[in-house]
Amino acid sequence: MYDVVIVGAGPAGMTAAIYALRNNKRVALVEKNVPGGVIVNTAFVENYPGFTKIEGPSLAYAMFEQTTKLGADYIGATVTGIEIGESFFTVKTDGESLRGKTVILASGTAQKKLGAPGEEKYTGRGVSWCAICDGSLYKGEDVAVVGGGNSAFEETIYLSNLANKVYLIHRREGFRAESSLVDRVRQLKNVKMVLNARIVEFFGAETLQGVVIENTLDGKTDRLAVKACFEYIGTLPSTDYAKDLGILADNGYILVDKNCETAIKGIFACGDVVDKDIRQIATAISDGAVAALNAIKYCSG
Ligand code: NAP
Repeated sequence: MYDVVIVGAGPAGMTAAIYALRNNKRVALVEKNVPGGVIVNTAFVENYPGFTKIEGPSLAYAMFEQTTKLGADYIGATVTGIEIGESFFTVKTDGESLRGKTVILASGTAQKKLGAPGEEKYTGRGVSWCAICDGSLYKGEDVAVVGGGNSAFEETIYLSNLANKVYLIHRREGFRAESSLVDRVRQLKNVKMVLNARIVEFFGAETLQGVVIENTLDGKTDRLAVKACFEYIGTLPSTDYAKDLGILADNGYILVDKNCETAIKGIFACGDVVDKDIRQIATAISDGAVAALNAIKYCSG
């Protein structure tokens, strides 16, 4: 029996693990992918205190190493459901089931897809959701990035160092991205912003050769020749396993109180999977600490 079973080993889940382990709790960390969550696919992080600039995977690895040195049981599995017992919870996975006195849900988000024709055919053949994984395949080529948030801008900066030219395609003229990122991208000579535009088709042969874009103002279409297209159009909550628990908001994110506790006593949630406005590494870590400290209280209460 674990004191705390944590679903998801991103910054929130790993922070929760660190706090619980330092309070001598027995902790299982269940993760279906590699540990680190969103930051594993982030080229660089520049707003994490203590580091002016650090590569996402390096930060993820440092957090992972800290949790394992403290003694977390790391379990590589996909969580499929949670059963509520009288005195413990059972976290069901595609492998073993895990019992916990408390559960902390930190399963984060998955990247959204455009859903345009050709996207599926060229997935892995030019269409990608991870510049740091696939960007180097397109050294010296023309590529596209879609989106107007922090992720799209950060990955555009990363790709501008590899590609010949980066088209940043966004559906309107305003951006959600921080103004400092927007200013930096505007200064990059090999980045061209294609605004008021949406991708209506991916085309090619064996691999992607380009995208058809439609101007959102006048409906005119155009073709852009690109060998890769990186989609950064936002995220969806990874909460399939929690659908029947009655703890989700209409948008699929998890509802919590100020203690990061859900409507089910003993089940907590933290990080990007929580229904909230600001999703940053710093806020995920903050949630992780709050969830763990309240889970510890619950265990001894
Ligand atoms: P985001 O902030 O939600 O931005 C998504 C972008 O994609 C928006 O510009 C949106 O356009 C566009 N978009 C959405 N659906 C679209 C569609 N169907 N077709 C075309 N464009 C579409 O997503 P994100 O950049 O992935 O960031 C997710 C969260 O992580 C945010 O809270 C972000 O602040 C945070 N984050 C922070 C950092 C950092 O602090 N350095 C880095 C990365 C991510 P509209 O604006 O028109 O809706």
